[in-house]
Amino acid sequence: MPEPRLIPAPKRLVLKIGSAVLAPGGKLSSDRIDALSDQIARVRRRGVDVTVVSSGAVASGFRALGLDTPPSDIVGKQAAAAIGQPQLMQAWHAALSRQALSSAQVLLISDDFVNRTRYLNARRVLGALSGAGVVPIINENDTVSYDEIRFGDNDALAAHVAGLISADLLIVLSTASGLYQDGDPTRVIPSVRLSGAESASALQSHVSREKTLTGVGGMASKLHAMGVASSLGVASIIASGTEPNVLLRLLDGEQLGTMFDVSGPGAASRRDAWIVAGVRVTGSVTVDPGAATAIVQRGASLLPRGVVSVQGTFDRGSSIDIIDDTGRVIARGLAAYTHEEARAIQGQRSSEIEARLGYTLGEELIHRDDLVVMSRPA
Ligand code: GLU
Repeated sequence: MPEPRLIPAPKRLVLKIGSAVLAPGGKLSSDRIDALSDQIARVRRRGVDVTVVSSGAVASGFRALGLDTPPSDIVGKQAAAAIGQPQLMQAWHAALSRQALSSAQVLLISDDFVNRTRYLNARRVLGALSGAGVVPIINENDTVSYDEIRFGDNDALAAHVAGLISADLLIVLSTASGLYQDGDPTRVIPSVRLSGAESASALQSHVSREKTLTGVGGMASKLHAMGVASSLGVASIIASGTEPNVLLRLLDGEQLGTMFDVSGPGAASRRDAWIVAGVRVTGSVTVDPGAATAIVQRGASLLPRGVVSVQGTFDRGSSIDIIDDTGRVIARGLAAYTHEEARAIQGQRSSEIEARLGYTLGEELIHRDDLVVMSRPA
């Protein structure tokens, strides 16, 4: 018998279940939803708060459009989700009711994470639901979210939800049994230590490209999501959703799937978590080694002087990445200036800002209070 694995005894768990588990081949599996609901009820009796992120709307709905495979175009997906989401919710409602549990549908879009007021509202409503003992069943609001602003896969959504509700563990159930050594499905890597999104991308060589008919994200998107979870200070596990009693066995410490431990700075506060979550980061600045050291080691603000180049586009208040001269993302923060303004003042002393722009919005390009260090310099 393998050694029990040390997993954090969670108080708050986000459980993400993939489309290929819930609706294999495009047919909603009430057996699987029943089995998972039974486990959710048991886990809750152990005092663990469970929030579900359920995929499967598109997978449950596409056949009603007369299709044999899930649509690849955005309108087709939106239509399929509009058909499938109520069916999915109905199945959860029925199964959880049999466990004497109430459920609630919560549909989110990436804007709910980008806009701080909406973020806090979502947090409040999820808190109210779990305070009332109701199981939230979350999905992306596929029908209204369009291409550029979509999460697109529920792995990322689940990681951001874990940060939103300050969960201590994220479990992602898919048809894969975990992260495979060199993509070989017979060799599941038991555990990995991550320190942020960067280290997750270093694991891409283990990703197998295989996908099921209804599966959406694949392993690459899971790894990315595990990296996001890790930067939010949330440990995560990828395991097979078709394994009997997988949830109970995982929480008992059984060695199933791949566990992603968290190391590295993570987000210290809820506001930091919101900044790190930076769902839609469209710009970045590259800084010189002096500025990188000042930010990471001395807790300094980012001043225009240390900026070597400005990439992408951003507004005042947008989340942007700070990149060191080796190309590593060392921090993320809220820009005080737009990308055009940042370009005009890069490399300049703060006292020059007014002369360059004709006005000043403060000395810092990103104030320390709006900045979260994400990884140590190389
Ligand atoms: N929101 C999509 C659905 O419910 C699934 C996205 C995903 O599984 O990653 O069909």
